[in-house]
Amino acid sequence: MVYVLVMENQTPSISCMTEAKKILVFEPDKGMAQQISMAVCGATQITPVTVNTVSEAISFILDHPDSIFAAMVEFAAAETNVLLEKLARRSIPVVAYSADTSEALQQKLMTVGIADMIVGPANTLPISIGKSVGNLARNCKETILVVDDSRSMRAALMRFLKNRCYRLLEAGDGIEALELLKKNTGVKLVITDNEMPKMDGFSLIKEIRRNFTKEELAVIGISAKTNSQVSVKFINNGANDFLHKPFLKEELYCRVDHNLEMLSRIETIRDLSNKDPLTKLFNRRYFFEHCEQFAAKNKDRILTVAMIDIDHFKRVNDTYGHTAGDMVLQKVAGTIEKAFAENGIVARFGGEEFCILTSHDHEEDIFARYDRLRRKIEADTIDIDGESITIRVSCGVCMEKSNVQTMLKAADENLYTAKDSGRNRVVLH
Ligand code: GH3
Ligand code: MG
Ligand code: MG
Ligand code: MG
Repeated sequence: MVYVLVMENQTPSISCMTEAKKILVFEPDKGMAQQISMAVCGATQITPVTVNTVSEAISFILDHPDSIFAAMVEFAAAETNVLLEKLARRSIPVVAYSADTSEALQQKLMTVGIADMIVGPANTLPISIGKSVGNLARNCKETILVVDDSRSMRAALMRFLKNRCYRLLEAGDGIEALELLKKNTGVKLVITDNEMPKMDGFSLIKEIRRNFTKEELAVIGISAKTNSQVSVKFINNGANDFLHKPFLKEELYCRVDHNLEMLSRIETIRDLSNKDPLTKLFNRRYFFEHCEQFAAKNKDRILTVAMIDIDHFKRVNDTYGHTAGDMVLQKVAGTIEKAFAENGIVARFGGEEFCILTSHDHEEDIFARYDRLRRKIEADTIDIDGESITIRVSCGVCMEKSNVQTMLKAADENLYTAKDSGRNRVVLH
């Protein structure tokens, strides 16, 4: 059987869990194994393989050396040392758990590389394990850039973080780090040393803050200097957090988790206020708040505002139901976004109406671009209850140089002309 983890918004450039991956649960008690299996499945959409003995677990690892994403291990069971060692050798992240709270057992785990350790009453374990493996699956989408001139320090940091399934980039100095940030969009966290050749950590953070706010990209500074001024200077230069070298692996994990969680919460709040929940396009409010800024930034290019409205959309709802109507809106929104979002603002204005503000290099291409979009929406039939339905749109475009509000009004008039003259067309004056 093949288990696939389904994740939203996965950046295709860095593969992590794009291929099928398995999760192994080693738990001697069959009832408990079942509960853990359900919790893991709920958190990751992967049905794990559960085994009740160490020898079964080892056979499974040997049979699937490259396709295990993570292993959940009841570490108080006999002979788990052999199992943990096999998992560590293959760099398989381990969530070790037990209801046994004895100090000696926990000490045993400090010595092996594990991603997470959960100790607590048996009835709380399945939920905590599910949460932990869910975090590992989420980490696969987060990219961290590690910057340190010391190869050994960098390697240690990378090893610790790899154990937690993050996507990783590394740089030996500030200049290299800035180059990597330019080339790789979507880096969420930079962990940087201060004492480095070419460009030190303080200067690197100052440069980073020219392009990214603390809410977009977190920075954790690290330094071996015992002087407490270093942490103050890091924070004053724009770091979100600070770590003293040497540090415990667990301390690094806490800081990384804390900072990424903060970023993710801010992103959720931002999306809630800026985006339409159904189509994930920007909403009307975001459009009006950002349109003049976009126009000013692109003042040397040709600007267009377009209004797009789905033709006879009410019939879709009446014939196939509201849920099918929602699916159509999502599909059309996705097609419009793909065509124009890279260099423009694509918004859902309400109902089945969309607005695009974008810039172009050549006047003669403009009509063709919108008409191509119209034809693409028509060609991409949508499958509803086994029936293939065709969706058509009307589009009004304005390219007269003016403020966005005036252009919007003209685009809307052109949309009405498109509707009045038979629909399924683009009107541009
Ligand atoms: P026209 O070609 O003239 O634009 O006709 P139309 O049927 O597309 O336009 P009309 O304004 O008569 O109907 C729009 C419909 O869109 C009515 C409304 O119930 C539906 N609608 C608005 N928002 C949503 C939504 O979020 N989901 C669904 N399923 N329907 C929606
Ligand atoms: Mg250094
Ligand atoms: Mg309509
Ligand atoms: Mg309408």
